[in-house]
Amino acid sequence: MRDWPMWTLRLPALTYWLLVDVAALATVTWAIISSETPAPSEIGRFAAIAGTAGAVIIGSSIYSHRLGETERNPWAAHLSYLTAGVLALPPNLLVLLLFGPALHCLLAQRPETYRWLFTLSATALAVFGTRYLLGWTDPKTSLLMMVVGAAVLLSVRAGLIAFGLKLRTPSATFEENVGEPIDAILGVVAVSIGGLMGFVALTNAVHALIAGPSLALLERAAQLPQWRRSAQRDAKTGLANAVHWDSKARSELAKGAPRIRPMAVMLMDLDHFKRVNDEVGHLAGDAALAAISLLLRSTLRRDDLVGRFGGEEFVVLLPDASPEVAENVAERVRQAVADLTVPTMATDGKPHELRGLTVSIGVATTTRFGYELPDLLVAADAALLAAKAYGRNLVSMA
Ligand code: GH3
Ligand code: MG
Ligand code: MG
Repeated sequence: MRDWPMWTLRLPALTYWLLVDVAALATVTWAIISSETPAPSEIGRFAAIAGTAGAVIIGSSIYSHRLGETERNPWAAHLSYLTAGVLALPPNLLVLLLFGPALHCLLAQRPETYRWLFTLSATALAVFGTRYLLGWTDPKTSLLMMVVGAAVLLSVRAGLIAFGLKLRTPSATFEENVGEPIDAILGVVAVSIGGLMGFVALTNAVHALIAGPSLALLERAAQLPQWRRSAQRDAKTGLANAVHWDSKARSELAKGAPRIRPMAVMLMDLDHFKRVNDEVGHLAGDAALAAISLLLRSTLRRDDLVGRFGGEEFVVLLPDASPEVAENVAERVRQAVADLTVPTMATDGKPHELRGLTVSIGVATTTRFGYELPDLLVAADAALLAAKAYGRNLVSMA
């Protein structure tokens, strides 16, 4: 228990996360105590909702596994049938529905169980908060109340989770805490399908099955953000890949041009990197590339756009950087790389500390070369070649 990763949370985050877990536990206990034994018709609705959702999620999970997808976000589907439960089930059977995401965590053996538990607790609080709003024993199902309920469910859940993430990582961006616009759309689709499912189940339990195909489509669609992210990222370093960096950089430059915001492009190439591969092995080389990308992300500002340009070449767009600032930044990166130690494994399998890596950097600024990306890259590349020619481990301004 002492080595649980949860204890690495900062104190305010830990307190808040535990508070959310305890509040959810109390709410769930109250939901069980306060409701009567379910009627057979309610059990029928539960079976239809849970059965449909279970079949879709298990089917989708097997399909994903066969495709070799590693990351999956099943929360949209969970949110969907929980919404159905809010409308059509008594609170104690709604608690049983929450076993869906709980089991999911157990079966998938998630590395960060405490994080899943926190999300589950926040979801439970949002679900029961919505139920309370609609009517604890007999929820209202007028269109207006269903829309209000859906909005409350989504916003309370997002708010509880976002606040917890903000406390955990104060430097995280809004998007990292709350999600991207596509996540909001998926949430709305999830509660809409759930609303329909719950509403039809009220009149005839078996009709809940009609939601199956839409739920399956939602399950697939919920993987879109992950697919997009993996298409944009370079797998080895987690940085933006060359294509994605190019389009982001162009759009940043286009935004900066009318305001004559000074910007800079920094192109860097590791020195004699072939030697690292030849002497310590390609795996050590890869570890060095990963360590350098981590170094870049921690040394640069959040708005600086870092990408993997090619093999052992990295590229950065520095918004709001005058030539002096850009040169200072490049110098700081050069120094940080020179000071870097990378723990890795040598070809003989023994631990090896890689030191003495150096980088040559070419910098081109909009002040001299304008806001067209190709012009900036050509200039930065020429400066990089000059840095190599002058002996490497140098910053050269175009
Ligand atoms: P310099 O740039 O200082 O002139 O010398 P260099 O040896 O770094 O230059 P060169 O561009 O000729 O070689 C780059 C090497 O980087 C070639 C390749 O072995 C290595 N490399 C490129 N991509 C990867 C990668 O993903 N992993 C590993 N381990 N090595 C890579
Ligand atoms: Mg190279
Ligand atoms: Mg090189």
